[in-house]
Amino acid sequence: MNAPRQPRELRLFNSLTRKVESFKPVHPGEARVYTCGPTVYNYPHIGNMRAYVFADVLGRTLDWCGFDLIHVINITDVGHLTGDGDTGEDKLEKAAAGSNATIWDIARHYTHAYWDDVKALNIRQPAHWSIATDYVPAMIDFAKSIAADHCYELESGLYFDTASVAHYGALARSVTEDGAEETRGRIAEVSGKRNAADFAIWRKTPAGESRQMEWNSPWGRGAPGWHLECSVMGEKLLGFPFDIHTGGIDHREIHHPNEIAQNQAFCGSDASGANIWMHNNFLVERREDGGPGKMSKSSGEFLRLQLLIDRGYHPLAYRMMCLQAHYRSELEFSWDGLRAALTRLKRLLIAAERVRDAGSGDAEDAKLQPFRERFAAAMQDDLNTPKALTALEDALAAKKVDAGAKRALIASMDDVLGLGLLTLARSDLRIRPKDAAADEAVLAEKLEARRKARAQKDFATSDALRDKLAAMGVEVMDGDPLEWEWKI
Ligand code: AMP
Ligand code: ZN
Repeated sequence: MNAPRQPRELRLFNSLTRKVESFKPVHPGEARVYTCGPTVYNYPHIGNMRAYVFADVLGRTLDWCGFDLIHVINITDVGHLTGDGDTGEDKLEKAAAGSNATIWDIARHYTHAYWDDVKALNIRQPAHWSIATDYVPAMIDFAKSIAADHCYELESGLYFDTASVAHYGALARSVTEDGAEETRGRIAEVSGKRNAADFAIWRKTPAGESRQMEWNSPWGRGAPGWHLECSVMGEKLLGFPFDIHTGGIDHREIHHPNEIAQNQAFCGSDASGANIWMHNNFLVERREDGGPGKMSKSSGEFLRLQLLIDRGYHPLAYRMMCLQAHYRSELEFSWDGLRAALTRLKRLLIAAERVRDAGSGDAEDAKLQPFRERFAAAMQDDLNTPKALTALEDALAAKKVDAGAKRALIASMDDVLGLGLLTLARSDLRIRPKDAAADEAVLAEKLEARRKARAQKDFATSDALRDKLAAMGVEVMDGDPLEWEWKI
């Protein structure tokens, strides 16, 4: 499907207006999107990666709708504190203090670990990966331009006066939906703040201390505040106003309201910097006490994508798991759920293999039109990936249709969903668990010998081989409808 000249309609839920809105680009034909990126003091957990799978699906959908996408994802390598307030430590400084590595080495290591997960999940490269520390001079310029009218200086830094802009915190649910000013209350007190919600946009290095990352500024040596980073990189790379700003729902409460306040100050108006603010819901884990809990990487043990791979799950099974839920719904992680997602992906691949080698697909086939329409309607309705997946499955199952046309339709659907349906082989999904003892060559030899024995109806030998394989930790699955045949 070629991109239509007239872009398709796309309706997206805007957290700011709390409505589903029709996407109207600021610059005709373009879509400029900013995604809050990871704080690189540790490995990302799979909950974090849900935020990037969501942003990727959004970007792919904008592309498919016919907009030229300009996507920015930042890397936060400075400024994100351990608490919501301004009294915590910088997460990266803290990680470096407990290690022999420099802060720069730590940031580089975890940035690459994050990029590995991005690649494994088939998340496309954005136009810009903006690294926060590359923008510190620009952050100082931005802060200078708003300091006189919107900021005040305390011993610990330069603070943003949240009462100096209209409707501070309008984005946050906790402030406006139930009337309680929970967001403001959650910010730790720094003595001398004018309002509890005021936040540091520049943090001075305390006298007598030194930080690995610090810069000179008109407010003394120190480091920028986390919220300042995203305002500045968004403005520099996309220009205000840009179209869409994304992040997880935790950002809707503090980080994004603070970004908006800075953007209003910078623009000298009520403009929030981005027209649409979109937030993915959490991936949660069942806790010991039975209730679901948000996954958190500051709390010791957490689920990394690599752990899923080590246990024998292809990373795209996790992408499938994400797509099975709407991005605004909470998603509970379970190993059973992941196994089911892997099986579903495998079924899709088996069906896609049948059309993979069909011709170029210039032919149209009217019988495929309903599937195309259902898929489009689902994606255009605030990225309804669960519905889009069923349209894709039904299209794959459609009988007596032109194979080339089907292949072209599947290709265009997969451009949006990113499951690699026309490139992955089903054998790619078979990942050896890390602790599997079976030797590859011995395994292949025994499986082949068993296949021969079965072909010759020598069941005594084939059963003996099955027992030997079982002793190696390999289960053979004769007649498996998914043709999985064996698993470790
Ligand atoms: P961080 O590295 O902590 O700044 O988080 C990176 C991204 O992951 C942000 O967009 C967060 O809002 C998002 N996020 C954090 N925890 C979760 C979770 N459990 N599920 C989904 N998204 C999350
Ligand atoms: Zn951000």
